[in-house]
Amino acid sequence: MSDNAHSSPRGETLLDEIVPARAPWEHVLRRGESLRIIDLEGNQSADFLLYALHDDAERYSAQDTIAAQRNVYLRTGSVLLSNEGRPLARIIATTVARHDTIGGACSCESNTLRYGHHTKSQHACADNFLYSNARYGRGKRDMVSNINWFMNVPVEQDGTLGIVDGISAPGLYVELLAEMDLVAVISNCPQINNPCNAFNPTPLRVIITGPGRIAACSPRS
Ligand SMILES: [Zn+2]
Repeated sequence: MSDNAHSSPRGETLLDEIVPARAPWEHVLRRGESLRIIDLEGNQSADFLLYALHDDAERYSAQDTIAAQRNVYLRTGSVLLSNEGRPLARIIATTVARHDTIGGACSCESNTLRYGHHTKSQHACADNFLYSNARYGRGKRDMVSNINWFMNVPVEQDGTLGIVDGISAPGLYVELLAEMDLVAVISNCPQINNPCNAFNPTPLRVIITGPGRIAACSPRS
C-alpha cells in the first residue's frame, strides 16, 4: 500500500549517494531542498535525526510531532516538528504506508539487555549517530528520540509495541522538504537481532534536490 505513485525527485539533483549497509551519513539540507531516502533492497530501517543548522539546540522532537498530528505514524503530509514547535521538514511523498516514531535507535547496551551479552560488540545506531554528530560538535546529550524510516512498529490495542517484519520493499522511498536549514543524520541500521532489517542490513540511496539555479535566484514576490 502506498500514499503516492512512484515519481522522480523534484528539481535539480544536488547529491546522489549510496549509504552502505551499517554506515552513518549526514548532510546539510537547505530550506527548500528535498531529501529522498530510498530503501534499495527492502526491509531496511533508516534511523534519522534532524538538527537546525544554525542553532542545534533546536532539533527533531518526536513528542511534539506526535502530539501535533495526534498519530504515532508518519505519512505523506506529516510535519516534523522541533522541540520549539516549529516545522523542520514535511513529508511530501512516500511509497511506504507509514513510518515509525517511537521504536528508537539500537545501542550496544539495549542489544545486551534484549539479546544477550554476546551482542555487546555488535555495531549499533547509537554509535553511528555519535560518529556523525561529533562532526558538528555534538555528543551523547544531543541524542534524542529518532525517526525510523521504513520500520514497522505496530501499536497493539493494549498499547504493546512490536518490532515486526517490514512493510517496505525494494525501491520504496520517503521524501522530505526542508522548512529551514538543517543537518540531516542517518544511521543505516546495523541491527541483526530483530526483523527491522530482515536480519540482513542493506544499503540505502539518498538524493538531495533543489529548486534549481533559476528558481533559486528569482526575486520573491
Ligand atoms: Zn539500529
